[in-house]
Amino acid sequence: MITVISGGTGSVKLVRGLAAITDDLTVISNVGDNIWLYGLYICPDIDTIVYGLAGILDEKRGWGIRGDSFNCLDQLEKSGAPSWFSLGDRDLAMHLIRTQMLKGGDTLSEITDEMRKQLGISARIIPATDDQVTTMIGTDKGKMHLQEFWVKNQARPQVKGIAFEGSETAMPNKKALHAITKSDMVIIAPANPVSSIGPTLAVKEFRHALYGKRDRVVAVSPIIGDSAVSGPAVKYMKALDLENSPAGVAKYYGKSVGNYVISGSDSAIAPSIRRLGMNVFETDILMKNKQAEIRLARYLVARFRER
Ligand code: GDP
Repeated sequence: MITVISGGTGSVKLVRGLAAITDDLTVISNVGDNIWLYGLYICPDIDTIVYGLAGILDEKRGWGIRGDSFNCLDQLEKSGAPSWFSLGDRDLAMHLIRTQMLKGGDTLSEITDEMRKQLGISARIIPATDDQVTTMIGTDKGKMHLQEFWVKNQARPQVKGIAFEGSETAMPNKKALHAITKSDMVIIAPANPVSSIGPTLAVKEFRHALYGKRDRVVAVSPIIGDSAVSGPAVKYMKALDLENSPAGVAKYYGKSVGNYVISGSDSAIAPSIRRLGMNVFETDILMKNKQAEIRLARYLVARFRER
């Protein structure tokens, strides 16, 4: 049994690779970037994983449904409604169903489970918590929701701090904790360490569960050299005074992780990561296509079977 702690656009590549080689997969999804918009509850990272595993993800964008149209969004714009968050017409079905079920009393995890079954996905997808944990970015223009910072303001404001509101009182999903405890290996997907993995690690029960089996926990670096493969990871890391390198991410994960995978091109910093008490592995961690996703998935599984 394998459990992956995941975000969205980067994580989905490895999650897809793992789903191609194992039937016993659990994905614990980030909830920090969930947002209420237009009266709908939108869960971007959960949906990227659901669409990715259902084979309908718009892979170029990394979010939404392939080939979707945006007529509703156009009409919202013509009607003078805020239209900074792109929602496709088909994608809207997910948000409509989710919101209706939430209002009917179902939990986010029950809804996610229902949706993945409807779409024929065999991997379990569990939101880290059914409570609200919201990633807020402190900036020179004031505090704002992660989506407001990244999408509405296109990451222009200067980042001063990051908070996971609600994380101190949020109850972790029991099934997610159970999956961590029972798994042969737990993988922290290549993801934005702060905004995608941070909200889950901010719930103390997850930190404790990972610490309890850290020799079976492996994280894949989202950083190669001094740059993220995509997205604002470096901006958030700098705001937390973390070095923009694979070592900076390793430091952020700290005691939760016993094994860390970096690019072969980053060999030189392996000793500094070992000093954090982690085993370091080197391989090609860039997933440019489906073969690369499966190759990395196989590498991780083989390494951990050997141990
Ligand atoms: P988000 O929720 O859309 O930000 O997506 P994630 O957090 O899942 O993924 C974004 C992170 O994944 C970024 O920090 C990227 O650097 C990283 N990433 C994207 N593609 C790859 C890849 O092919 N390999 C590795 N190692 N990291 C990647």
